[in-house]
Amino acid sequence: MPVSRELRIEKGGGSRERAPDAPKRALAIGAHPDDVEFGAGATLARWAAAGTDITLLVLTDGSKGTWDSGTDRSGLVRTRQEEQRAAADILGIRAVEFLGRTDGDLVSTVAERALVSAVIRRCRPDVVLGHDPWRRYRLHPDHQRAGTITIEAIVAARDATFHAEQIDPGGLVAHRPATLLLFEPEEPNHCEPADEGLAAKVDALLAHRSQWRSTMGIDTDPDAEIAAFATRVRDTALDVGDGVPAEEFHRIDDL
Ligand SMILES: [Zn+2]
Repeated sequence: MPVSRELRIEKGGGSRERAPDAPKRALAIGAHPDDVEFGAGATLARWAAAGTDITLLVLTDGSKGTWDSGTDRSGLVRTRQEEQRAAADILGIRAVEFLGRTDGDLVSTVAERALVSAVIRRCRPDVVLGHDPWRRYRLHPDHQRAGTITIEAIVAARDATFHAEQIDPGGLVAHRPATLLLFEPEEPNHCEPADEGLAAKVDALLAHRSQWRSTMGIDTDPDAEIAAFATRVRDTALDVGDGVPAEEFHRIDDL
């Protein structure tokens, strides 16, 4: 990939990395609506503004994304899909797809691998973004499993002998992405500049109105709490980039 600018990385060995220019096509895979925005929202907003064709794939239906046990689950699923589409619009993401697995019950089997492999073969991304399945002490099982599904689907998508029915008679062709960026990484080794995309990231996260209380701390005093949330997002980006707003990843090339 071409390079655009350097960012200092303290974590992950203190090496220096170059951030890639916007890829032509990217596929971002999250366990739940809003995961990708938290992990890579600013990067995707910057790439979209530069012309990257981005597809967002959400693996679960988000039906447990509430603290209210009396919530109508099917209504919540619809709400969260609408919120996800609105958030994607804000980031400039072209397409949003939902795998529809039940929130909290995501499993990583050959069936999920096949479905995500087909998405990769259809979208043909240069860069895939996903959860880091090796992140230690992660409590939510969906995040780890989403990362595992993403990695196994990349392996399957690149080799024509995996899920060969997708190729013949399915009409797809094997596809090998150039780069994998794992967000919320156990061992960061790469940063993307987030200054350009940070405002869109915050706005996209706020589009997930049903998650204000449970994940963003916005409840009784929205104006003040929205401002505090935006400050937290910015402070995190500044911390990651050592004073320059950034999002951190574990980057794997030569897939
Ligand atoms: Zn999540």
